[in-house]
This record gives sequence, structure tokens and C-alpha cells, in this order.
Amino acid sequence: MEKILKRIKDLLFLIVKEDFKYFSRVKDPDKALINLFNELLPYLDGKRKNWVKKVIKFLKVYPELPLEKRKKLLKEIHSVITLKFTLEEIEEEKEKETPVEKLKVSGEKLKENKRKYPIRAFFKKVEELPDKVISKRVKNRLKKLGVENLIDAIYYLPFRYEDRSTVTPMAYLRPGREYLVKGKVVSVSEIETPKKKKRLLKVLLYDRTGTVTLYFFNQKVFPYYRKLFKGAKELGKEVLAYGTVKRETSGFTMAHPEVEIYQDGKLEKFGKVIPIYHTAEGLKQTTVRKDVQNLVKKVVPFLREYLPKSILERNGFPTAPEAVWKVHFPDGNVKELLAFQSPQQKRVIFDELFLFQLALAIHRQKIKQERGISFPVNHQMIEEFKKALPFTLTKAQERVLREIVEDMKRPEPMNRLVQGDVGSGKTVVAAAAAFFAARSGYQTAVMAPTEILANQHYKKFKDFLSPYGVKVGLLTGSMTKKQKESIYRAIKEGFFDVVIGTHALIQEGVEFKNLGLVIIDEQHRFGVKQRVELKKKGVLPDVLVMTATPIPRTLAMTAYGDLDVSVIDELPAGRKPIETKILFEDERDRLVEFLKGELSRGNRIYIVYPLIEESEKLELKAATQMYEYWSQKLKPFKVGLLHGRMKQEEKDRVMEKFKRGEIEVLVSTTVIEVGVDVPEATVMVIEHAERFGLAQLHQLRGRVGRGDRKSYCFLLTSRGAGEDSIRRLKVLEGTNDGFKIAEADLAFRGPGEIFGTRQSGVGDFKVADLRRDYHLLKIAREESSRLIEENPELKGLDDLKELLTFRFGQKLDLVEVG
Ligand code: ADP
Ligand code: MG
Repeated sequence: MEKILKRIKDLLFLIVKEDFKYFSRVKDPDKALINLFNELLPYLDGKRKNWVKKVIKFLKVYPELPLEKRKKLLKEIHSVITLKFTLEEIEEEKEKETPVEKLKVSGEKLKENKRKYPIRAFFKKVEELPDKVISKRVKNRLKKLGVENLIDAIYYLPFRYEDRSTVTPMAYLRPGREYLVKGKVVSVSEIETPKKKKRLLKVLLYDRTGTVTLYFFNQKVFPYYRKLFKGAKELGKEVLAYGTVKRETSGFTMAHPEVEIYQDGKLEKFGKVIPIYHTAEGLKQTTVRKDVQNLVKKVVPFLREYLPKSILERNGFPTAPEAVWKVHFPDGNVKELLAFQSPQQKRVIFDELFLFQLALAIHRQKIKQERGISFPVNHQMIEEFKKALPFTLTKAQERVLREIVEDMKRPEPMNRLVQGDVGSGKTVVAAAAAFFAARSGYQTAVMAPTEILANQHYKKFKDFLSPYGVKVGLLTGSMTKKQKESIYRAIKEGFFDVVIGTHALIQEGVEFKNLGLVIIDEQHRFGVKQRVELKKKGVLPDVLVMTATPIPRTLAMTAYGDLDVSVIDELPAGRKPIETKILFEDERDRLVEFLKGELSRGNRIYIVYPLIEESEKLELKAATQMYEYWSQKLKPFKVGLLHGRMKQEEKDRVMEKFKRGEIEVLVSTTVIEVGVDVPEATVMVIEHAERFGLAQLHQLRGRVGRGDRKSYCFLLTSRGAGEDSIRRLKVLEGTNDGFKIAEADLAFRGPGEIFGTRQSGVGDFKVADLRRDYHLLKIAREESSRLIEENPELKGLDDLKELLTFRFGQKLDLVEVG
């Protein structure tokens, strides 16, 4: 189909180009086109098909048309087929075919100073610089932008570029977009708007392909522009105009565009690619640009390279001063610039990712240098544990267990994340680690994010471990003081080998006799900060983190870069996949019938509503109202309500009732806990499913299918939700694999959304976009590992060391790098 389209376009272009210069040379274009369009028809549907049918009809009467009409028809077909016939796959081709003119792009050149300063000099606060160097007003403005020191200022990078070097012929304009046009002046006149009686200056421009009318509203500028345009007209000079194009009955217009007389070689406003910066309230883009660029001019010439030469050479990166300069004063390949693919842009993006990866690598290394426990785990212990299990471990479980055992045996503290989809069997693996610790004479603390999960873990760990005589204890907030105290004592005296609890377990100063292993459930609620806290206590146990949030591997390296990552990427055999279906509003009645059927078979149901962040009140109302609605609809079955405004104990009580079956339908906001296990729950209904991310939907879906009964997930949405949303939801219909879903989510929504629930905030990038810069992320990861391996002390790289400490010292507890 692309081939046919291309032939149609080529033919039409040949006819219309240069104002029909070659028109007479093409014989019977109508016949050729009819044939081609007929060939194209079978590939089309909907609007495009109808349009092509119409075109064929018109082409059939072509021979009867007068010459002007013939041309008009062909031009019209050409413009639609090149501009509006938007199929994704021809988008790019069209771009190429638009016969644009490129002005020569020129940017200011960097003149590097011979005298260079160490990076430390750039940490200086902008505020502390003399007012002579930076005026008070500029300082205030920079403060508003969040720029504190010089290095912030020069790395206050543009997030987008505006191309003012590509001239588009007027016939190829599309309303609603910004364009640069070039043409001669037809007329300059003042007019009055019919309704509002406002005076306008109207300037008509033309090029070979069409016309554009420019309007100016402000009477003060009329004399200036009148002179400018009349002068251009008399001298026959071309004018450049940049602005947003509108289509009005008279044709294309631009309101108060930026203009300049076209003079080859020396353009002021055009022939440039303009960087666009984030602004703050009350600050204009032009002001921000001027401030930042001025500082860059003053400071960057003194910047010296801080990365090892070998990294630059291997990757073809320019030096730091050159890269920073060109990002603020771009020139060169416009297409590359707009896509953030110029060597200079790549260098600054790389730096952001590299510094972060390097900081994490150092952090990991530091942890490993600390003296931890070397557990004497041996083959016998492993066999002993496996033999008593009621099932055999999956290959993935075996692999991860081996990785954990290797870590435990080493004298450095383990710091490992186990990632695995819901139900992949993380708990067994964690229990095995606790077992090895106990056999080695050490205690294990297991921390869950909520009390209900702590209870659940308690049961599971006890099931796995008591057969070996390993003593498992539970400590929760709702226990009486007396109960707690006796448990504290038992922990301190070493009666319990394993203690399960909430974070209170660490925070409340519980004393262990011999803590050797800490297992943390759900990483996203336990950030770097808590881990640092744990260390401050002077205990250096092995740490094992478990998460059910699948993240594509490379991203995991970034998000959890301070941890070693193990992945359980396989479910135990024989699991029944959850049947997932998208339902529309008008299918609600059928759904109600289905739910009643499930309930009468003794199964339980979750019904979830999206969290509406902007308004907690609204959210509450939605869930409360729907609670009443479902109570009515599903009579006589018992319906319960769970939402974020409830206290933790209240939530736990409702969940407990649902677990016991005193509540059979749970209407809830997204607060239902990750990891809550109710084997009787077989249906998950998610309303307004389009508002959730795929990863979150997958998490919610994981609440069902935990028993042997067949389970279902219904994604309710409206037919108006849009094609994209439906396509996204279809991913869930198609697969139960959390990693595939995470990849798809990444492609659809970007990493920000996936990390939305993370608290540590160490992975927020300013210029890097992990979707666009995936490749650079990998390079950054490789280069950072390589550097740490070759030069762990970062010898001779003082600037780099200082930069790292400056950027990440506090966040990652790096302290004194190297
Ligand atoms: P996760 O914590 O990853 O969601 P669990 O460890 O709770 O998963 O395991 C889910 C269920 O599968 C549990 O009932 C567990 O006993 C069972 N299970 C774990 N590993 C296996 C296996 N290799 N074969 C069969 N069943 C398993
Ligand atoms: Mg679990």
C-alpha cells in the first residue's frame, strides 16, 4: 500500500510542482490516477475509503472540466494526499516531501578561556556573586526558576527547541501550527474590523505556492511595520514571518508574527534554532532565555572537562563546555536538535544519567565495603529446606535463591531486590533466606507495609518454617502494651528466629539479640532513607527487598540502582490465567447478572474506583455513592466500603471482614493493599479503567486468582474513552505477564507514571527522557560500572568526585566519595 501511495504522490507532485510547470507533459493524469486509486481502495477503510471513492468520481469527469478546474482538482487531491491523508506510516515520508527551504543555521561560537576553574568554583551560590557580575533583578529571577548556584544555571537546559530556519512554502501550511514563511509583499493596508471597529494593519505576502495575510493589532507599531513592509515591497525584497497559522475564509493568516527582512547571510531573528526553557510565574520566555544565555556566556568558557577522556573518545562525545554551550546556543543539524540527538545534547543527557549511575555504583560499593555477616549457608541446608516443601521450586525461583545464597555467604552485606509478579512465589524464596539465617544462628526481621499484610506474612512464614522448628513471632501496633513487651523480650533474648511486623519493628527501637537479615516487602514504601536509618543503628544485616511491581530490566537498574536485582520471571506451573475483559457502560446489566451468579457460588468480588487526586472529597463521594448503588443492585449479598480517608485500623477491620466472608463485595478506592490474599475472591471489577496505568491495573487484577477457582477481571470503560485507551486496555486482555505489561506501559505512558508511586525521588531526571534515551541509559550504566571497576577511587578525577558529592552526597548517603 505504501508503494501505491508513493506512486500517487510522486505523480501528483510532478504535476503540481513549480506551479504546474510540467503539467502539459503528463498525459492523461486522470486515467493513471483512477487506476492507482482503485488499487489503493482495498487497503483502506472509513473516512479514507470514502474520500478516495469521491476522488475517483471526480476524476471520471476530469476530461470535461475546463483547464483551471482541472488544475484545481489535482492540486486539491495533492494537498489532501500529502497533508491530510494521515496514516502513521506515511507521516515521515510526507515530512520529507514537503519541499521546504533551509536557511543556513548559525549560532554563537564558544570561545574557551585558557584559564579554567575547578568544578568547585561553579558550586558558588548565584546570590553570593557581586551585583556587578549579576544584577539583583537577574538574581531574583533566577531564584524563581529554582537556580541556586552557577552550575544549576548553566545546566538549566532547554526542554524543547523551536525551528526558525525551515521555510515552508505557503501551500503546505496547516492551520494551528507555527511556521516560518518567506515571501514578497503584495500590499500593506490599514483596515477596520467590521464588528468591533478595531484598526488592523494588514500585510499580504505571497510566494510561488500561495499567500499568507499578516495582521498587527497594536496601533503603536503600525508606523514601524508600514515602513518596513513598504520598503521591502519597493526594493522587491523578501520578508520572513514566523507565527501560528490560522485558516480564515480569505486564506491563511498569522496574527502579530515575528518578522524580518530576508538578507542572505546575516539574519537576526531567523536562521536559528531557538531553545525554549521552563519558565516560572511572571517570567517571560524571552527573559528567561536572555538570563540563562548571559550566564552561560560568562561562565561556560571557564568550565573544564570533568569526565575521563576515554569515555568521551569511546562514545564520540564533545567536551563539557562545548556541549553545554551548544545546547544553549544551538546550530547544525536542525532535525537532530529537535529530536535531542545532536552530539552535544547526547553528551549532557549522558552526563545526567552517568552521574546518577555512578553515584549509585559508588553507593553499592560502599555498602559492600562495610563489614556484614558471612552466613555459613551450605548445600545441606538448601536441600533440607527444599525437601520439605510441598512443591518443587520453579527454575526462576531456583536461580534467585542461588543469587541470594551467594550474597548471604559473602562477608559484605547483601542489598538485593527480588522482583516478581504477583503469585510468582517470592514469599517462599524469602522464607528460605530466613531459614538459612536461622540455621546460621541469626534472627530475621520481616517488615510489611501494613498490619494486615504483616498478619498474612506471619501465617505464610509460619507455615513454611515451623516444620523445621524455626520460631516465628508477630509484632503489630494493635497489640496491648503487655503483649508487646513480652514479645520485645522474646526478641531480645533470641527466642524468636523470625519476627514479622510493620516498620515499627525497626523504628521503635526493638532490640534484637542477633539480627542478621531484614526482609522488606514492597520496596516502593521503603526508600533509601529508611535503609540509611537502619544502618545508623549500627547493625549491618543483609537486606532483601521484595516487590511485585514489574519494571523492565534497564529501568529497574535505574529505579533501584542502589540494589542488586533478581527477577522471578516465571509463574509456578498450573496457574489458571485470569480471564480479562473490557466492558462498556451499556453492558453493565449483564455484568450485574454475572456478579450475582459468582456470589451465589460463594465467591467474593472487588469493585474498584479510581483515585481522583484533585479532590479527595469527590473520590469519597464516588466510592460512597457506588457503595450504595451496589448494595442495592447486589441484594441480598453483603457489600462493604473501603477508602483512603479511613484510619488504618478501620481499613484493616473491613479487609478482615472481607477475608472472613462477612462482607462478600468490597467497593473500594485503590487503597486495597498490594499483596492482600483472599483466595475466595474471584472477580475484580475496575470502573473507569481507562484512568489507571496498565501496571496498576495489573496489580489490582492480581488481587484475584489466588485460589483454585477460575477468576475474572472486568475493565469497565465508556465507548467515548478513545481509541488509545481501548488499545491500552487490550494489552491486559491479551496477557497476564507483568513484565510485558510493564513494557507496554512504558511505551504508552513513559517512565514517570511507572515510578509515580516511588518516594525516594532519586530517579528524577531533568533532561533525560528514559523512553527517548534508553540507549544512552545503557551506555551510562556500562561506562559507570567500567569506571568503578578500573578506577574505584576515581583517582585523578577530582572534579568528577566533587560533582558527585555535590549532586548526590545527601540523597544517597555518599559522604566522602572514594
Ligand atoms: P508472591 O509473594 O510472589 O505473590 P507467593 O510466594 O505468595 O507469591 O506464592 C503464591 C502461592 O504460590 C503460594 O500459595 C505459594 O505457596 C505457591 N507457590 C510458590 N512457589 C510455588 C511453586 N514453585 N510451585 C507451586 N506453588 C508455588
Ligand atoms: Mg507476596
